[in-house]
Amino acid sequence: MTTRLTLQDLDPDRLYVLVLGVGNAFTRTAFNSSFLLIAGGVVVAIDCPGPFGRVLHDAGVRSGLHFDVGDIRHIVLTHLHGDHCNGLEEVGYTLRYVLPGEHRAHLYLLPENVDPLWERRLSAVMATGTDPAGQRVARTLEDYFTPHPWEEDQPCRLAGADAPPLEFHIRRTLHPVPCFGFRVSYKGATLGYSADTPFDPKLLAFLGQADLLIHESSPGSAHTPLEALEALDASVRDRMMLIHLADETRERGAAIPALVEGALYEVGAGRSPIVPTRRPA
Ligand SMILES: [Zn+2]
Repeated sequence: MTTRLTLQDLDPDRLYVLVLGVGNAFTRTAFNSSFLLIAGGVVVAIDCPGPFGRVLHDAGVRSGLHFDVGDIRHIVLTHLHGDHCNGLEEVGYTLRYVLPGEHRAHLYLLPENVDPLWERRLSAVMATGTDPAGQRVARTLEDYFTPHPWEEDQPCRLAGADAPPLEFHIRRTLHPVPCFGFRVSYKGATLGYSADTPFDPKLLAFLGQADLLIHESSPGSAHTPLEALEALDASVRDRMMLIHLADETRERGAAIPALVEGALYEVGAGRSPIVPTRRPA
């Protein structure tokens, strides 16, 4: 039986990764790729696939660290493919209509993705709402989220007075739609994340000396072949863990370990989870 944990059980001076999903867009046996960063008592979702409540629930059962959709107030959105953003409607509605009061999540994304996220994905259903009297009212992106466009070549930080001093540096990837990878540092620990990308040595150089390097791999020209990562120098490979995998790759295994759904990792403490996981009933 996994022990129930709370944020207070985690060291506020360390950076943690709680893995939500490791599958690619076509997975039948995993969740789409996403994870939570936890630092200083604050939770940051890295992408937001659907069904987000179920995704969080399963990670809670496996790790003992339970979060609900309403707990998520910071979302880093790497790009607009559905397997990375299909949960936003659920988050927006939960914070606006389900929780008492009117809440919004901070949304960190590329400047060129702000308008398309609303105009071409969310507004079809979220642009009309009802007020407490049941009257139909017009809604905008800002009624549900507070967007923060992030730029390259400068430190990017979380918004809000309670936000921990996480420092992100982002870089656009070679994915066919606007997408960024990042490195993020917190009190001496650094995590690198490729997000979705074809193999790109320049991105790997940007991610640099991260203590933990989370890299995608999937079939297809929009993604990174496993062989390219397995051929990297051991000094890079030995800090790397895989995400965004095809079911067949996860079942077969690879020379580089894959992240495990529901596992909690401490950045800078190796590639083994710091708490055991169990399969949800
Ligand atoms: Zn993608």
